[in-house]
Amino acid sequence: MISLSKAQSTVMSLVEPGAEIELDTASSLGHYLSRGLVAQIDVPPFDNSAMDGYALRSEDLSQVPRDFDVVGLRLAGRLSGRDQRLSINSGQAVRIMTGAPIPVGADCVCMVEQAMTSQDANRVTILKSLRPGENVRKQGDDLARGTTLAGPGDRLSPGLVALLVSAGCPRVTVFSHPRVGVLSTGSELVELPPGSSGQVQLGAGEIFDSNRPMIMGLLGELGLSPDDIGHVRDDLDEVIGRINQLRETYDVVVMSGGVSVGDADMVKAAISKLCGNSGYSMQVAIRPAKPLAFGSIQDDDGKTTLLFGLPGNPVSAAVSFELFVRPAILKSCGARQPFRNSLRARFAEALASPKDGKDHFIRVQLSHLDDGSWVARPSDKQGSHQLSGLGFCDGLAICPGDSNEEVINEADILVTNPRVLG
Ligand code: AMP
Ligand code: MG
Repeated sequence: MISLSKAQSTVMSLVEPGAEIELDTASSLGHYLSRGLVAQIDVPPFDNSAMDGYALRSEDLSQVPRDFDVVGLRLAGRLSGRDQRLSINSGQAVRIMTGAPIPVGADCVCMVEQAMTSQDANRVTILKSLRPGENVRKQGDDLARGTTLAGPGDRLSPGLVALLVSAGCPRVTVFSHPRVGVLSTGSELVELPPGSSGQVQLGAGEIFDSNRPMIMGLLGELGLSPDDIGHVRDDLDEVIGRINQLRETYDVVVMSGGVSVGDADMVKAAISKLCGNSGYSMQVAIRPAKPLAFGSIQDDDGKTTLLFGLPGNPVSAAVSFELFVRPAILKSCGARQPFRNSLRARFAEALASPKDGKDHFIRVQLSHLDDGSWVARPSDKQGSHQLSGLGFCDGLAICPGDSNEEVINEADILVTNPRVLG
């Protein structure tokens, strides 16, 4: 058996970030930057009003209330040449809306709530004195032109996309997402027929292929659009033949089933045959998800395909995905930090320490207490075949196998259900 960290570093050592591509900034959501970006313009690009109100000169307000002549109207929007020349003198004000450019000569804005407009709207009484610059958003006060906005490995979140667009960056250079195919293996598997209603009959010895939709969904949560490749029987030639087809199209093929020590475990054999020295069949010191087959194959033209053979037991497949496939995919997408952060939680009741040399990943539900701390409750069923423990689990509690303690009161949790945090 090898340690989890050794197995993870072996996998990660074979993963390279994808090719660099250019995208429109607005269509780049979920990608990771491969190059940094700087602001192309000042943001805001011009001095503008933070309020609906009146733009005027602060020096005119040494005595308030004071009346002003309203000499114009400034709405947000492109200014005509004549509008651009609008300026005010002492004793004059311009009615102005939020986001509209401050007219020449004005240095502050009185909000509408502190002004009384005459009936004909030609005069306004300002009730309060103002500081120079009050309610004015200065050009460049958010970002000066040339400021570094983001660097390689940063994820294009909705907020970052907005920042880049506001700073006039029309295109971004990012790492491409890998093309991923998801294939199940096992002669016992049948597909829940799409569109069927009512009860679906299983033949003797058959089970529904639940790993495939789960793994497709887990990849979807990473922002990828994987292809569903269906399933193959436990037949070495069939498994090899299918992988050989898939390697032409895909950067990553995620398989489940057929990697332990059973008579029909063909994925392990196929990966070892196809990958040679770049193929690994590992027994990882974790529970669940001990077996993992992994490898990379290179075509004559240099194209590399990563092959993952996850264990077939559904909970093992989910845990193995979390610990190996997820970080590998994120590294290939160019993420700076491919491993998930954990949060600390107390168990509702202390657990017996595993003491079997394996790190246990206990499925837990989480609740957040008023004092800000988290409490973890293990799912009732912790068997690697028992999906009832997975369906509503929020995360995996890491219980180290080398602890000297008899019981564990708290643990680091990998929060796999992003909705837990809101
Ligand atoms: P294996 O890793 O092929 O030995 O499979 C271990 C267990 O997981 C067996 O009980 C399989 O029937 C089950 N299993 C394998 N693949 C799937 C799948 N795609 N969906 C649900 N269960 C599976
Ligand atoms: Mg099998």
